[in-house]
Amino acid sequence: MHAHAKPAARKVTGDNRPTFGIVGGGFTGTMLAVHLIEQSPVPVRILQFDRAAAFGSGVAYSTPNDKHLLNVRVGNMSAYDSRPDHFIKWLEGCAKAAGAEPRGPFVSRGLYGQYLRSTLSACLAAHPASSMIGVDAEVVSLSAGANSVELQTSDGARHAVDRVALCVGNFPPALPVKPQTGDSGEDRYFANPWSGGLARIGKDDDVVLVGTGLTMVDVVLDLHSRGHRAKITAVSRRGLMPLPHRDVGPYQAFLNPDALPRTVMALTRMVRREVEAAAANGVDWRAVLDSMRPQTQALWRGLPVAERRRFLRHVRPYWEVHRHRVAPPVAAEIEELLRAGKLAVMAGRLQAVELGATGISMTVKARGDKTVQRIEGSWLVNCSGPQLDYDRISDPLIRSLFDGGLARPDSLSLGLDLGDDYRLVSRSGIPSDVLFALGPPIRGNLWETTAVPDIRKQCEAVARHLTSTAA
Ligand SMILES: Cc1cc2nc3c(=O)[nH]c(=O)nc-3n(C[C@H](O)[C@H](O)[C@H](O)COP(=O)(O)OP(=O)(O)OC[C@H]3O[C@@H](n4cnc5c(N)ncnc54)[C@H](O)[C@@H]3O)c2cc1C
Repeated sequence: MHAHAKPAARKVTGDNRPTFGIVGGGFTGTMLAVHLIEQSPVPVRILQFDRAAAFGSGVAYSTPNDKHLLNVRVGNMSAYDSRPDHFIKWLEGCAKAAGAEPRGPFVSRGLYGQYLRSTLSACLAAHPASSMIGVDAEVVSLSAGANSVELQTSDGARHAVDRVALCVGNFPPALPVKPQTGDSGEDRYFANPWSGGLARIGKDDDVVLVGTGLTMVDVVLDLHSRGHRAKITAVSRRGLMPLPHRDVGPYQAFLNPDALPRTVMALTRMVRREVEAAAANGVDWRAVLDSMRPQTQALWRGLPVAERRRFLRHVRPYWEVHRHRVAPPVAAEIEELLRAGKLAVMAGRLQAVELGATGISMTVKARGDKTVQRIEGSWLVNCSGPQLDYDRISDPLIRSLFDGGLARPDSLSLGLDLGDDYRLVSRSGIPSDVLFALGPPIRGNLWETTAVPDIRKQCEAVARHLTSTAA
């Protein structure tokens, strides 16, 4: 599928095809490539960079663990916004080829990765005059001209292209307190659960997890599918865990699109009232929340910055667990582990973390009674979800974009500031003609921009813009 080039893939002299650089090999980068190839009136050349060589799968769909299920139903996971049954048809084709029954509504994320790679392969096969090269390297900086960009990778190579799209996904967060580290204490700490290595955790080692959301669920399932027997303790400020999906029917949108609430208080009141009214009619709250989905981005954009901040501080933890739900079999397994005492969840504020050579220790102020408790374990895994403060990101590419003035954080520093057509906005406020961003890094502009149903629309829109301007 990809020809992997290392280290240099400069623009080929005499090759007049428009050349696009895509930073990131996950869903966003892959589907942007597919749309660029499919929508362009002329053949194109694409260089796709991924420092983890996660081409066609990214962080979410690289997992080989079959217990890691999609947290969105297959019917909503088509890679194409304009072809809603594309994934279901692919699944049916696989089932037919294997002489098996089609699978249920939540399939494994690894299988979804296969689907993405097969979608890309089919696209490349149908457009043989276009090409795509996977560059297995980290992009550390960019230099932008009026009509071209040069990408620099950590191995010192430089790559010239016409336009660049940043599809870099999420960044892992730091712990809420700085850990005290003894000799080789870092060895006992996984700052990023996606960077591999959890297999080093022994079956009888107690494990402490910071965070109780979707990442915690993944790590717990991972440990248990490898026969982990010891205790796992997960801690977060409120101790809230993702709620399970349930089959619900469609629900009439209840927010007036011409008069969306402009304060968080008004919004929460309206939602509560609607959930109560729905419950009185026997309708589950999930249906009410799902009906808001097409309006979420407009709601976010309509909130003044101070109200967005209020949402982040007070509502976000509740929004996350209701909105980003888990597949029922996943919820059932977590429930069983809780019942068996193998998993304990605690609500409290982290006060101190010590990383030693043989174990870790944490003090936590409990949320209810404010007692200070000590939690010890052999390992600590940071599961506190994506970094939501771009001022604290140490990623070399993001830092160099900010330091060089090619990009700036949005008004809440949730991500990169964005102009129309997904253009990066420079430090001086000018939208770029050559640099674009999509997916999780544009969270500050849209809020809901992490799941496939949101990102696939962006891929189509950015490809439309790029192929009409760069070709
Ligand atoms: C565990 C998990 C499960 C999820 N499950 C679902 C689900 O079931 N359904 C759903 O709709 N959404 C799900 N999501 C949301 C998910 O974020 C999106 O669906 C989508 O996968 C995001 O893809 P992405 O390409 O933007 O980011 P990523 O998959 O994170 O890919 C970004 C890639 O960019 C690379 N990269 C970053 N910086 C550089 C650089 N400077 N140089 C080179 N490479 C770089 C990284 O190595 C990475 O591979 C899940 C997310 C996670 C983390």
